Amino acid sequence: MPSSALGEVTPIASFTDLGLSPAQLQVLHRRGITEPLPIQAAIIPDALAGRDVSGMAPTGSGKTLAFALPMAALVARGLPRRPRGLVLAPTRELASQIAAELAPFLAIRNLKVHPIFGGVAFNPQRRALQHGVDVVVACPGRLEDLMRMGEVVLSDVDIAVVDEADRMADMGFLPAVRRILDATNSRRQTMLFSATLDDESVRPLVRNYQRQPVRH
Ligand code: ADP
Ligand code: MG
Repeated sequence: MPSSALGEVTPIASFTDLGLSPAQLQVLHRRGITEPLPIQAAIIPDALAGRDVSGMAPTGSGKTLAFALPMAALVARGLPRRPRGLVLAPTRELASQIAAELAPFLAIRNLKVHPIFGGVAFNPQRRALQHGVDVVVACPGRLEDLMRMGEVVLSDVDIAVVDEADRMADMGFLPAVRRILDATNSRRQTMLFSATLDDESVRPLVRNYQRQPVRH
């Protein structure tokens, strides 16, 4: 590609350059998404390579697809009640939204996602887990209820995402987040997103739950 008049402008890679599959590109194009946002261009190659990543970026910068695309490409099929992928989110709105964004990319591989949050009946969530959910997108409270009831077992989780870690901390969820991550496979890939990573409350998560994370 010829350099611009300024010479030093580096064009942002296309989704193809980032290592996404043709089927994933097709789903993106159907949704009118053609060029990666900067956080996506930065995170996707490292995440696809299996590395731990921590991403710091403001609201609306496109963090969901930054973890959803690699997760949907890498996650394996789970057994009943034993998901292989886990996304933790602070609110039910966010959990629903993330699950909806993940679904079409998982569907390419015939994999399923289900949101788990409180304030609604247990039974549909329990039934979905019994049927087999490959990726769970959960708020910490209800997820811990289901863990205690033996309805979900996290020891097969080998890809975990903590979204909006700073909000989780503000809402008092960090002890639960730690207990939940402690219940997953200790050799997992961990991705962590936050508006700030230097916060006293978020730093221990990076330190104790990630291995040499690439920071973006
Ligand atoms: P964040 O989690 O960083 O707050 P989101 O992942 O929710 O941001 O994305 C914000 C909005 O940008 C969403 O409506 C999403 O569909 C849109 N979006 C994400 N990636 C792209 C892209 N590459 N091109 C255009 N729009 C995008
Ligand atoms: Mg977000």
